[in-house]
Amino acid sequence: MYSTMQDVPLLISRILEHGRTVHGQSTVTTWTGEPEPHRRTFAEIGNRAAQLAHALRDDLGVTEGSVVGTLMWNNAEHLETYLAIPSAGAVLHTLNLRLPAEQLVWIINHAEDRVVLVNGTLLPLLAPLLPQLPHLAHVVVVGPGDRSLLAGVRARVHEYEELLAGRPETYDWPEIDEREAAALCYTSGTTGDPKGVLYSHRSLYLHSMQVNTAEAFALTPRDITLPVVPMFHVNAWGLPHAAFMAGASLLMPDRFLQPAPLAEMIETVRPTIGAAVPTIWQGLLAELDATERDVACLRTVVIGGSACPPALMRGFEERHGIRVVHAWGMTETSPLGSVSHPPAGVSGDDEWAYRATQGRFAASVEARLIGPGGERLPHDGTAAGELEVRGPWIAGSYYGGAQGEPLRPEDKFSPDGWLRTGDVGTITPNGYLTLTDRAKDVIKSGGEWISSVELENHLMAHPHVAEAAVVAVPDDKWGERPLATVVLIKGATIGYEELKAFLGERVARWQLPERWAVIPAVPKTSVGKFDKKVLRRQYAEGELD
Ligand code: ADP
Repeated sequence: MYSTMQDVPLLISRILEHGRTVHGQSTVTTWTGEPEPHRRTFAEIGNRAAQLAHALRDDLGVTEGSVVGTLMWNNAEHLETYLAIPSAGAVLHTLNLRLPAEQLVWIINHAEDRVVLVNGTLLPLLAPLLPQLPHLAHVVVVGPGDRSLLAGVRARVHEYEELLAGRPETYDWPEIDEREAAALCYTSGTTGDPKGVLYSHRSLYLHSMQVNTAEAFALTPRDITLPVVPMFHVNAWGLPHAAFMAGASLLMPDRFLQPAPLAEMIETVRPTIGAAVPTIWQGLLAELDATERDVACLRTVVIGGSACPPALMRGFEERHGIRVVHAWGMTETSPLGSVSHPPAGVSGDDEWAYRATQGRFAASVEARLIGPGGERLPHDGTAAGELEVRGPWIAGSYYGGAQGEPLRPEDKFSPDGWLRTGDVGTITPNGYLTLTDRAKDVIKSGGEWISSVELENHLMAHPHVAEAAVVAVPDDKWGERPLATVVLIKGATIGYEELKAFLGERVARWQLPERWAVIPAVPKTSVGKFDKKVLRRQYAEGELD
């Protein structure tokens, strides 16, 4: 029996119109490095999104299903593209500006981007690639930058502000199927070619609602949200759409992602919630420890993308009164998978232990653990297996390109359609996920598994250690053994023996690394995570002895 309810499609255009009208006075502040940051209201953003949609359709030939790329920092104009492109029925393709040139070319060609909007400051990155992008018909330049870099290119070049000027501030948004593609994001391709995840209007809409629940980040019109996580990294974890839906103002850091300007913008614009990978917050914590900054405005700092070291969590809370919320997700999960709010009635060390986990799964995200033989493991807090998930904002396949079929590689999707995350962990009877490692980072030593993350977390709790990354290296006797690489804080002189003794008080003897290296910095991926494959390669090439 069908229900009697209206069947209204969940579309990005509805988020756009809701934010524009109901929350028209909320603001988007973009940090410019100038004394005055740039401010625009949600009403203006919504009006300008309509103007952009007119320009895309009337001047740039964008139709329903066209793919439109953005190579941009987090700023107000990028938010306008986020709203306008999907609302007009096209597909927003955010491009990771930290990828190597050949991967960017591969991705833009695979998605057949017809238009790319680019911040002027990023023209030195895009301009040299243009001869290799046959499908690209239009380049739209946004904000200051050296236009001469585009002299003589085949694609037509436009100025963003000129394209918008004089267009109508409303648009008759098409009533498309909510399952149509709205946004495209490629995983960073640590192995093999990058894989495209094609989000639907429905998945983004439901995900935004979930981000706004109290069990996630609880955005309200009283908040100012600081997405330090780039808008090309899983849609800045869904925060731009969620904030526009909730009427939560936004502080956009643009290209000012270093600790000092971040601290300054927090002090000046007073955001209430920020989100980024651990390495960004590690840098900010060091800045806050070293300088007097008033950051009491921050009620929550969301840390995800890699395991959050407990020492980082405690440092923010105990020294600066800022609560850290740990969350897990992937490009394939939109990304909100789980969030580490503790259960009711716990306090002290118990509460800290819960908060250090990856947390409980969002409503609508189902999870299961699979053992080495493909068997289901109990959620008893002990049995460790590969995490598989499914839900309405979890990928069911990868984009096969304009001509191709969707891709369902066996190592990524189970025969019954669940996403294989490649993450290994346990789940407690009350639903808390603890990830011990990525399957490919776990150290397999003589038939036993050593968690690289656990060793790293202990090492990073040492007062002289700024960062620590542990990787598996080949060993004749044990198969693999851990190599501990550490970055010491400025002026520290501590030796391996002391670090080993410190670790020896916290983990079993057989897990203690024999191989150590002090390095100036841990290499990072394009989204700021520890790049363990670089460390493994450096070790293999004798650079870490
Ligand atoms: P990439 O694979 O390029 O890093 P993603 O951002 O999609 O791209 O990464 C998803 C992966 O990041 C997860 O599968 C997991 O291994 C890791 N990850 C994300 N959040 C956490 C977390 N809170 N704790 C541990 N690992 C995490």
